[in-house]
Amino acid sequence: MNQRSIELLTELTQADGIPGHEEAVRQLFHSHLDGVGDIQKDRLGSIYCTKTGNVGKPRILLDSHMDEVGFIVQHVTGAGYVKFLTVGGWWAHTLLAQRVNIWTKQGVVPGVIGSTPPHLLAAGARDKVMDLKDLYIDIGADSAEQAMEEYGVKPGCPIVPYGPFMPMRNPKLFSAKAFDNRVGVGLVIETLQGLADHPNTVIGTGSVQEEVGLRGARTVAAAVAPDVAIVLEGPPADDLPGASGDTLQGKLGGGVQIRLFDPSMIANPRLVELTIETTTAHQIPHQLAVRTSGATDAGAIHQIGHGVPSIVLGVPARYVHSHVSIINIDDYQATLDLLLHLIPQLDASTVDNLV
Ligand SMILES: [Zn+2]
Repeated sequence: MNQRSIELLTELTQADGIPGHEEAVRQLFHSHLDGVGDIQKDRLGSIYCTKTGNVGKPRILLDSHMDEVGFIVQHVTGAGYVKFLTVGGWWAHTLLAQRVNIWTKQGVVPGVIGSTPPHLLAAGARDKVMDLKDLYIDIGADSAEQAMEEYGVKPGCPIVPYGPFMPMRNPKLFSAKAFDNRVGVGLVIETLQGLADHPNTVIGTGSVQEEVGLRGARTVAAAVAPDVAIVLEGPPADDLPGASGDTLQGKLGGGVQIRLFDPSMIANPRLVELTIETTTAHQIPHQLAVRTSGATDAGAIHQIGHGVPSIVLGVPARYVHSHVSIINIDDYQATLDLLLHLIPQLDASTVDNLV
């Protein structure tokens, strides 16, 4: 098992970065790729590292989004409770009685999302999912004044789920917040560090604001002007109780997930073919996904400029968009192996032949 990858994922998942507030992740991206390539940022906050191989062209965009789903302070009640909005997709079921950290100018303020004890719930209320708008965070303040003046909790402060990195009893499985998409960020870092001889230029990105509509991908792809794009994700695993073996498309331990279709993008068929051939040639386990819902940065990137042939590779994660997602490190390793074998094949003529 690759201890270095596990340490990198620990560091990346424990960094906090809701959409529009990705600074901590951006700093890690920068520090791990310092000296590996030329590092730049766009004006929305995405960061990218350009590693020139034997030739300048084609330009391969290797994208990962740095942001994670979180919340933002809307207002503080007179009694000192914090009302909030979600930033990115959440299901209220996953939120009751969870821990969060609120980032303020005066430092981090821990809190818990309040939940009414069953003893106090009216009959009928126990069977319902709470409306997100009825949730609140308890930071232990006595009043709005204490929350805002003393603790610094004010409208607009980012709120991040608290989800420590936890090795499971199965030595290949790990739980943490934000595997969507710190697995992608880790893969960009390790691929750029690992690539030696490649007939192209690879631009690895940490893009911002994916969870609120692929916003950073749009600007960073315009800045980078790629000829082809590989988007890295932590997509939802579906190997849950009740799932049938016939319909599984994201199984932990099933290998790198190659996404062929979702409502935001249709993968380039020749790039898909080359990718699958590469997994076969190097005995890399893979699984295919055709998704009825969801979107990735590729949805924005493939429509930039003259068009960018794209593909999405993923490390499936159970319980994404919660405090406790779970991955299998072998799937991460399979994705890294695939990238290190696929990118050296993307020379000028191969990329020309994709379209
Ligand atoms: Zn994601």
